[in-house]
Amino acid sequence: MLHARFIRKFAIVRIAAKNKNVLETWRQFLHSCAMNDMEELYQSIILEHNRNPQNFGKLSDATCSAKGYNANCGDDIRLFLKLDGSVLSDVRFSGEGCAISRASASLLTMAVKNISKDRAVAMAEEMLSLLTGKSQLMNDLSHLGSRVALLGVRKFPMRIKCATLPWHALIDALGEGNVAIRGKA
Ligand code: ZN
Repeated sequence: MLHARFIRKFAIVRIAAKNKNVLETWRQFLHSCAMNDMEELYQSIILEHNRNPQNFGKLSDATCSAKGYNANCGDDIRLFLKLDGSVLSDVRFSGEGCAISRASASLLTMAVKNISKDRAVAMAEEMLSLLTGKSQLMNDLSHLGSRVALLGVRKFPMRIKCATLPWHALIDALGEGNVAIRGKA
């Protein structure tokens, strides 16, 4: 499938090449292939976390939790945190949601487990800023790991709340302990 797409795209670029500098044409060709491959990779990460969410289920000895609700999509997720001193020793989530909200919650639990409360809040603030487009995308996003896949929602404003929901819940759980959130973006 990838091969067929490559040939099709190259044929289109060859037509365009008649009037353009050859190097510029190649640059565009390689860039468009890379972009498509990245989007496919991002989508596969989201779908995999939706199918097999990490740290899914209630946490009986949670020390704080918060609920995230997105009326636009029906996402209804609760985040459970266990704080040992200032470290998040366990993180889980439960509830119902679309693929993006579930993947976002799953990636969140993996990212914040066993880090300090302050680092978790800083991470949530960075994710919210990137997801909502308040921050420009830096060239190097490698520190985000698989969370980079969530940034694909920037192209779909209606879905941004799905991705931000668990991160708002994290900040609220750590800030106020037990808060219902209603569709923040
Ligand atoms: Zn959703």
